[in-house]
Order: sequence, then C-alpha cells, then structure tokens
Amino acid sequence: MNGLMMDQPLLISTLLTHAERHHGNQEIVSRRVEGDVHRTTYRELAQRARRMANALAARGIEKGDRVATLAWNGYRHMELYYAASGSGAVLHTLNPRLHPDQVVWIADHAEDEILFFDLTFLPLIEAIASRVKTIKAFVAMTDRAHMPANSKVPNLLCYEELMADHSSDFRWPVFDEKAASSLCYTSGTTGNPKGALYSHRSTMLHTYAAALPDGLNCSASDVILPVVPMFHVNAWGLPYVACMVGAKLVFPGPWLDGKSLHDLFEAEGVTVSAGVPTVWQGLLTHVESNGLEFSTMRRTIIGGSACPPAMMRTFQDRYDVNVLHAWGMTEMSPLGTACKLKPSHLKLGADERIAIQSKQGRAVFGVDMKIVDENGAELPHDGKAAGELMVRGPWIISEYFKGGSPLVNGWFPTGDVSTIDPEGFMQITDRSKDVIKSGGEWIGSIDLENIAMAHPGVAMAACIAARHAKWDERPLLVVVKKQGTELTRDELLAFYDGKIAKWWTPDDVVFVDSIPLGATGKVQKNILRDAHQDHLLVAA
Ligand code: ADP
Repeated sequence: MNGLMMDQPLLISTLLTHAERHHGNQEIVSRRVEGDVHRTTYRELAQRARRMANALAARGIEKGDRVATLAWNGYRHMELYYAASGSGAVLHTLNPRLHPDQVVWIADHAEDEILFFDLTFLPLIEAIASRVKTIKAFVAMTDRAHMPANSKVPNLLCYEELMADHSSDFRWPVFDEKAASSLCYTSGTTGNPKGALYSHRSTMLHTYAAALPDGLNCSASDVILPVVPMFHVNAWGLPYVACMVGAKLVFPGPWLDGKSLHDLFEAEGVTVSAGVPTVWQGLLTHVESNGLEFSTMRRTIIGGSACPPAMMRTFQDRYDVNVLHAWGMTEMSPLGTACKLKPSHLKLGADERIAIQSKQGRAVFGVDMKIVDENGAELPHDGKAAGELMVRGPWIISEYFKGGSPLVNGWFPTGDVSTIDPEGFMQITDRSKDVIKSGGEWIGSIDLENIAMAHPGVAMAACIAARHAKWDERPLLVVVKKQGTELTRDELLAFYDGKIAKWWTPDDVVFVDSIPLGATGKVQKNILRDAHQDHLLVAA
C-alpha cells in the first residue's frame, strides 16, 4: 500500500519559488567585477532567473544540455544556477584557476553548448574560444556599457541584453528528480579531471542535510558570505541552502584578499562565512596586523584541507569566531562530515575541545562511512585504527561523467586515510597518495603540519614523504617563515618534542619562499615531492 502524499519531485527550481514567495525581500549583496556593490533580493533574483531561462530556451538550450560558467561568486552566477538547472539544462561550473589547456579539455569533455563568463576572464576566453569544439556562444556577464571593445571572441553576447530581451513569464518545468542538474570536475592533480554529475534529487537532499544544525547550521537569521567559489562544488551548496532557509547572501566577487573580505564582513553584518584554510590565513594576517575585530561574524566553516588547530585557536580565543571544521569531496556534493561538538564535550578543557574540533567530524545523515584495511576488511571505530575511508549515500557519485564507476562493493573509496572514534568523529590522517611510509609504518602528514603551523614563526607548512636509504620514506617539512622572523631548522624540530612520538619527528626542514597551491587552494604536494623528494638522500 502506498502512502497518500503528493508526488512532487525534488527539483532545484522549487527552492527559488519558495524563496520568492516566502522571503522575497531578503537581500543578496554582491561586489561586482565592474567595481561597485550591487543589491538585489530573492524576488528579483527569481524574476531574472526566469528571464534567463527564456533566453536559454530561445538560444536552443534543451534539457540535459550543458551551460558552462567561468565566474566568481555573484548574483548573476546565482541566476544561472537556477535558470540553467531549473529549466532542465545542466549547469557546468568551470574552474578558471585551471590551466587553459585543462579548461579546453573539460569544456570539450562536458560538451558545453554556451559559456557565460565574468569580464575578469576575457583573456582566458580569448585564449580558448577558437579551441573549444562544442561551444556555440560566449556571454559576458555584464551590461552593454562594460562590454569589451574590439574583442576577438566570436559570437560574443551581453548578459544584460540577453536578459532584457526576454520576459520573466516562465513556468519551471516539472520532470524526473533524477535528471542531471549540475556538473563539476575534480581538479585532477594526477591525470585528467573527472566529472561529478549531480541530480536535482541529490542536490535537494544535500541541501536539506547541509542546512541542519549539526551540518552547516544555516537559518534565516544568518548573513552568509561564501568565500568558497561557486565554481568549486557549488560553493559547498550554500547558494541552495541560503535560498532554502532565507538567509541574506553576500558575494565577494573577485575580491578575496584579507582587507576586502574583512571590509565586506563589517559593512554587511556577515555572521557566517565558509572557505579553505589558505583564505583564512590571509584574512587573519590582515586582521591581526591592523588590530581589527570581527563585530558580527560569529562562525566560520573551514574545509577543503585540514584546518590547523592554531588557526582554530586564533579564531575562537582571540576573535570569538567559532570554527566548524567540515570535510567533503567534489564526488560528494560535497558535504560528508561536520565537526559540531556534542554536549558532553562542552565541559572539557580548551585543549581537549580543540583536539576534537581538529577532527573532520561526524557524518551528516545521508552519508554512511566506514574505514577498511588494504584487503577491504572493515576496521573498528576506536579512534586508533586508520584505514581508507569509504562512503555511500544519495548525494555521492555512482559513476563519473563518461568515466565509469569507481565504486567498490557499492562504496565510494575516498582516497583519504582516517580514523573514526567511538563517538562517530572521523579524523583524516592523510590522503592515501600523500601518506608517508617509514619502515612500513604510516606517519600522518596532517598531524606534523598542524604542529609546525602552531609555531609562531611559521606562516605555512607542508609535510611530504622524502626518499630515505634506510626507512624508504621519512617526513620532510617544507616551511614558509612568517615575514621578519628568525627561525632555524633545529628550533623548529625541537618544537615537536613531547608533542608526538619521537620517530614521527620530521628528519629535516626545507625553508622556501612559497608553497604551491592548486586550483582549489590546496597544497600541491606532488610538486613539492618532485622538488624535494631526494633531499634526504642528497643530504646523507
Ligand atoms: P580535488 O582537490 O581532488 O578536486 P576536492 O576539492 O573534492 O577534490 O577535495 C576533496 C579532498 O580534500 C578530500 O578527499 C580530502 O583529502 C580533502 N579535504 C577536504 N576537506 C578536508 C578537511 N576538512 N580536512 C582534511 N582534508 C580535507
């Protein structure tokens, strides 16, 4: 016997309809590429998304066609999120930080039909326009006054003109919730990038879960500023969550330096932000060196790579900004775990609390996880046994787009090595490809990096496996010193005393001017390994 409930598919367009009807006046503020600050509302956003849906239809975009973007976080990008997916097309967010050859490869692989871009990326568009095989039109996301003069880009259209040519009279189509809604490629540090193709259903379920109090904890009382780009796993789902709960949204556009972000936090009363640790590094440096405070921001969501405990302490103890550590992957829409403390933790001392917050957290409902050894046998959740983390759930990929299935017995192997404690808190010790194997034993590089980052003279640290004559591999620390500090190798290595098993202490330190970051703000350890992996052999 079936239940007698309405059979309504879970469609992304319903988020926008809800926002327009129930919190239409809520604000969306964007710093634009054009230089000014733009204000709109969910009501206007919904109207313009419908206009854009008409414009897409008029250009022959059909259900399932890929609509690509190369754009910062801003209201026009958000309009496209809803116009493309809502009308049944697939929004494909390209990452502009990738090499142009990779952008071409991805656009061809995705078979993009049309590409919308922010003016910042005009040089990139000019470089790729004649090379991409399937894109029929390029749309500059601006008005006529700001359109580039004498551009060499063929079939160049103006976003605001396209919008003005069409009415907002559009009914969002109703279709199967399993239909594809958006496409995002992994950054592909090794080999070609791989496409994660989300569905309406997966996105909607992810949105419900992400909004939960023990998830990203978002509500109508929040003013959310996603620093995490809308071209990287849909800004961790925040453009959908904000629409669902009716939060005010603040978009930083291309201005992601510490000063610009802090100015915007203060001007717009931002309460919650989200981004990778490297972005917060820049923000904290700016705030510390100018004696500033955060007058409204009370929470920040940090993920993408491990948040160093030293950064958590600074945010929490010095600035009263609570850190929510979260973990996920492009293949997981992205949210997997969030590290909200349990009530029993609140009476713990500060150090013990930070130790728990440094873990990546508990699975949000919808994500099931387990850890396994090399033979696939399940390991205990005792907080000690470390193995490959496997996940499954309705917003985790079953296959890559045109790329086959990576699943092992129905589970997605994350490529992360982790422990899970009896309370359900998962902690990543490493990516499996970054693990340091010394004399057959694993050493977790994240722990070693976190300790180095707690030293006042260290701006940034990465720990890699260096080849070793006796032990096969030993940890080697690569460090950028804070400007104007004196710091020696011996001082830094002595800092490990008593904090970690003696044999885990890195063998040596290489001081460098900068550490290479990839297109999503993560340390590119493969480049560091290429440069330094023979360091200990040479030194010996
Ligand atoms: P890619 O960098 O390959 O494009 P993602 O951006 O999807 O892929 O990154 C997913 C990976 O990032 C995870 O598998 C994990 O290694 C790492 N990661 C994400 N969040 C965290 C976190 N909070 N702590 C440690 N590692 C993290």
